[in-house]
Amino acid sequence: MKVHVRFLLSAFAPRQFPPPNLPEVAFLGRSNVGKSSLINSLVGTKAAKTSNTPGRTQAINFFEIRPLCNSRAEMVFADLPGYGYARVPKEISSTWPKFIEPYLERRPTLRLCLCLVDVSIPPQASDSALIEYLGGNQRPLLVVGTKADRAGSRLQASLRALRQAHGVDLVLPYSSRSGLGKADLWRRLREVTAAAEGNV
Ligand code: GDP
Repeated sequence: MKVHVRFLLSAFAPRQFPPPNLPEVAFLGRSNVGKSSLINSLVGTKAAKTSNTPGRTQAINFFEIRPLCNSRAEMVFADLPGYGYARVPKEISSTWPKFIEPYLERRPTLRLCLCLVDVSIPPQASDSALIEYLGGNQRPLLVVGTKADRAGSRLQASLRALRQAHGVDLVLPYSSRSGLGKADLWRRLREVTAAAEGNV
């Protein structure tokens, strides 16, 4: 299904977050994991800037998503700053901006955290730490394995290694290049956000 995407704002502090009116999906991952590419491939336009420069943005960028066939927006995407290469608890408290933790812990409309991990490299401790942190805060999360086209015949083995390392039942393979996983991810986003309607 085609969607219309509208950039809402870049927030650098909790008071700048948009009013919590719609179910929200947060996109999280290490710098260079393929987060901008995944968002752009999901919405079909260059909504999020693609860049090879790690740590490009320190804001949370909010986008409103509306199906083309609908007059009402259905969900908000929150594109969080990429984290670095060190372990995450330290990252969260040091190099991540101070408003990320309040966002992840207290944003009332946050329905799903998409944790992006790169299938073309070994499991990363910083990703495990973030997943553990979100689990500890009872945040629903879905781990998405980016750059699945790069894994070739090693894809299933990589997904298994990621599931084991991060202690999750599912790592959804995704490729912004080939479109692998796109329909499945949209279906899951709609399930989660539609279930939340009326509760926001
Ligand atoms: P971000 O820093 O997480 O936003 O990552 P980007 O979206 O800017 O992607 C980082 C690099 O990975 C870029 O060179 C992209 O072209 C590449 N990349 C992203 N997604 C994919 C993918 O699905 N397949 C392949 N082969 N490369 C990808």
